[in-house]
Amino acid sequence: MQTKVNKQEAICHFINGEFVGSASGKMFDTYNPVTGEVYAQVHEAGREEVDAAVRAASDALKGVWGEMPLEKRLALLYKLADGINARFDDFLQAECLDTGKPYSLASHIDIPRGAANFKVFADVIKNVATESFMLETPDGAGALNYALRVPKGVVAVISPWNLPLLLMTWKVGPALACGNTVVVKPSEETPATTTLLGEVMNEVGILPGVFNVIHGFGPDSAGEFLTQHKDIDAITFTGETATGTAIMREAAVGMRDVSFELGGKNAGLVFADCDMDKAIEGTMRSAFANCGQVCLGTERVYVERSIFDEFVSRLKTEAEKLKPGLPENKDTNFGPMVSIQQRDKVISYYEKAQQEGATIVTGGGIPEMPEEFSKGFWIEPTIWTDLPESSAVIQEEIFGPCCHIQPFDSEEEAIRMANDTDYGLATAIWTENTTRAHRVAAKIEVGIAWVNCWFLRDLRTPFGGSKQSGIGREGGVHSLEFYTEMRNVCVKL
Ligand code: NAD
Repeated sequence: MQTKVNKQEAICHFINGEFVGSASGKMFDTYNPVTGEVYAQVHEAGREEVDAAVRAASDALKGVWGEMPLEKRLALLYKLADGINARFDDFLQAECLDTGKPYSLASHIDIPRGAANFKVFADVIKNVATESFMLETPDGAGALNYALRVPKGVVAVISPWNLPLLLMTWKVGPALACGNTVVVKPSEETPATTTLLGEVMNEVGILPGVFNVIHGFGPDSAGEFLTQHKDIDAITFTGETATGTAIMREAAVGMRDVSFELGGKNAGLVFADCDMDKAIEGTMRSAFANCGQVCLGTERVYVERSIFDEFVSRLKTEAEKLKPGLPENKDTNFGPMVSIQQRDKVISYYEKAQQEGATIVTGGGIPEMPEEFSKGFWIEPTIWTDLPESSAVIQEEIFGPCCHIQPFDSEEEAIRMANDTDYGLATAIWTENTTRAHRVAAKIEVGIAWVNCWFLRDLRTPFGGSKQSGIGREGGVHSLEFYTEMRNVCVKL
């Protein structure tokens, strides 16, 4: 497979509108998870490149971009969305090469949503009013207060590998709509589509310096150099909770604002009064879509005891029908893990489950694949039962295609077990009893509670995590809270 990531042989940084390598000549490998082979080299940014990117972003902010009328800026964002769609196949190919995910998934979710993120936030910013107050003063003349929304400045965007284009544009879209400039550090595992976006930025006429990309790792590499840079005004990050903690420490220096979308250990609650077909279909997606590498995925399923056996047996049947294979094959609906490290991590939980006495309903290992894929990062979809709630497999985020199914006897017990976690990202509730649905949804400590659905996202709604699953909310007008600063103007009349 070839990638049209850019014209260079290696994947470059995109700084001030140009594709550039690292002065140090330092590079790292990036892999095709389907075959396990290196498919490209990536330049690793040192402080020099990070500094150049931040400087370009600062200059753009002080220059034409910062002065640009809103309508013109938003028209560019519309063109950007169209530009991504015009190169849909290039993005699709690059995303699937980096992640191994099936085309059937990326062509419906990753790429179209990646493009839509620019239009959605262009629309939001146009239509949001600011507040105004008349203040009474002793002289009777009064004073008029009104608020202005101004950009935060240069925003660092640090993104993960599971939905690379979608999650990056989810942040770059509102950041640019609000008039900021950005320096993006995509995951070292998935550098391709973020780099490709640089080409589209140039094609549609986004000014140099508005969008910059630097590649590398976290600690002692591009990620850390970026968060430590004193001219970064705010940091928006999606990734692991532990990484968020490290980034927050850096953000404390210079009082930089943060927006964090972090890990999860999400519960699915299946009540006896559910529509079983819907619950099975939804849980299949929430546990196994994207090879289980979805922050909102369900790794803990709680099922009312009277339907427990039927649910387990039907989920097993469906999981065993998943079809791994080449991303471009139409019938492939199950890809590999993104990296050998991630697969090793998930396999270590598979082993832990076995040691702790889990019943392995299905899976539990590495599948036999045809010779040409045998070095790929494949793993079996896995279902367990019979573990105690204290098990690490039930408490810790695995981020793989697996779930544990536990029976419950009462609504209170289900809610208690669902909430017994340090995380609080998402839940899926399966019941045809509407009163119960509302009651339970209000009691689960999460950022998003789905009822009889999963991953159904209205981009105007608040998105984020409770507890250790995040700080702040993005989406719709909520993104403006982070990507702009309110300035109050008080005019004495
Ligand atoms: P990660 O935290 O390992 O890495 C994310 C990004 O942070 C990468 O670009 C990485 O290079 C960078 N990074 C790592 N250490 C850093 C440091 N010290 N300073 C600056 N940057 C650093 O996460 P991941 O493995 O790429 O992604 C999986 C995780 O992301 C899971 O925990 C998942 O739940 C979470 N996630 C959350 C959401 C959400 O919306 N809440 C969405 C997707 C993924």
